[in-house]
Amino acid sequence: MSKLSRWLKREKINAVFENDLVKFLKSLKIHDEIVAGNVKCGVCENTITLTNIQCIYPEKGGIRVCCDNPHCYKMILEKQIK
Ligand SMILES: [Zn+2]
Repeated sequence: MSKLSRWLKREKINAVFENDLVKFLKSLKIHDEIVAGNVKCGVCENTITLTNIQCIYPEKGGIRVCCDNPHCYKMILEKQIK
């Protein structure tokens, strides 16, 4: 029973996180673009989906998105520091 309630709690947190992510992407007006498969990772040019999206960052006055490849994320972090 306690195992089940823990699992339910975790599922709820995931659901909230996903809703927030969708809301955030919609506020940036890129949610539909991602769903349509029109957004590519700013580093490796993999197609971004709601599953592999890792982070969103500004570049040249626009919004770029990076996939969940650790190499890409590291590249973005290094760019942001400069
Ligand atoms: Zn990438």
